[in-house]
Amino acid sequence: MNVVIRTESPELAPADPLDHLADILFHRMGSDGVYARTALYEDVVERLAALITRHREAGTEVMRFPPVMSRAQLEKSGYLKSFPNLLGCVCGLHGTEREIHSAVARFDAGGDWTTSLSPADLVLSPAACYPVYPIAASRGPLPAGGLRFDVAADCFRREPSRHLDRLQSFRMREYVCIGSPDDVSTFRERWMARAQAIARDLGLTFKVDQASDPFFGRVGQMKAVSQKQQSLKFELLVPLRSEEQPTACMSFNYHRDHFGTTWGITDAHGEPAHTGCVAFGMDRLAVAMFATHGTEPAKWPIKVREMLGLAVHASADAHIEGWR
Ligand code: AMP
Ligand code: ZN
Repeated sequence: MNVVIRTESPELAPADPLDHLADILFHRMGSDGVYARTALYEDVVERLAALITRHREAGTEVMRFPPVMSRAQLEKSGYLKSFPNLLGCVCGLHGTEREIHSAVARFDAGGDWTTSLSPADLVLSPAACYPVYPIAASRGPLPAGGLRFDVAADCFRREPSRHLDRLQSFRMREYVCIGSPDDVSTFRERWMARAQAIARDLGLTFKVDQASDPFFGRVGQMKAVSQKQQSLKFELLVPLRSEEQPTACMSFNYHRDHFGTTWGITDAHGEPAHTGCVAFGMDRLAVAMFATHGTEPAKWPIKVREMLGLAVHASADAHIEGWR
């Protein structure tokens, strides 16, 4: 009997089940989790975004955010208490002309120019919904029934990984509700049902389960337990890698009165507003589609193609085939 002996080294580490998609979906840009996207991939991301738009509830205000946001606003939101390890901060050379020249000269001489950097008033947005709360607060008390927003941003989280479903720079789309506790809990229930219908339409295998955020440190572990106990977070999980380690492609979050109290938003009864959001990981959803249905959208199930507006070609193909 022949025995194959393998010498283990990091380069020969077992391939991740998603690795075969890398060259089809992305171009490497020199850093794990930061990729240029191919036309094939981007077309699917755009079609997924259009599908999510078709499900937008009436009376939802659309806002699109840049990839950066106010550092002061993120600090006030409490981000540093929960995920300081994931935050990316914008830095710049803010010194005098002489200081800046000397930093560049240090680089030219093979030294480290980054020691001259200092933080700007901006951070990279770690989630799409943070900027919407201060904007809502500036409008005064909420109307009866609360407010709903459709927001999106390129998000950054400092969690480098070689896995294609864990990026450092990724797109997040969210529907957000700001209102009374009842407004928010019914909003979340509606979206948990609607999101599962979307996942079914996309032909994805999934389950919805209670979840917690990766809060930093030992105190963070306690926060995660309490978040689960209060059922504040659910995720739609797709078994891309394995059933034991499924990938969260959407999340359904209830923040209670955290943002309402932080920003002084009051509901129609004068109480601190409650907030909640449903977040769609656009890149994870797109990767999930290719991992599930294969690398050729032309061969995806007809129902799925119809959902994504891809089926026009399918009927044209059928027509041509009929004449052969
Ligand atoms: P969260 O705020 O952690 O619930 O994130 C919202 C959604 O963004 C998740 O359900 C994922 O689909 C997506 N997401 C979060 N982190 C990443 C990441 N590192 N890479 C790609 N997508 C992510
Ligand atoms: Zn959110």
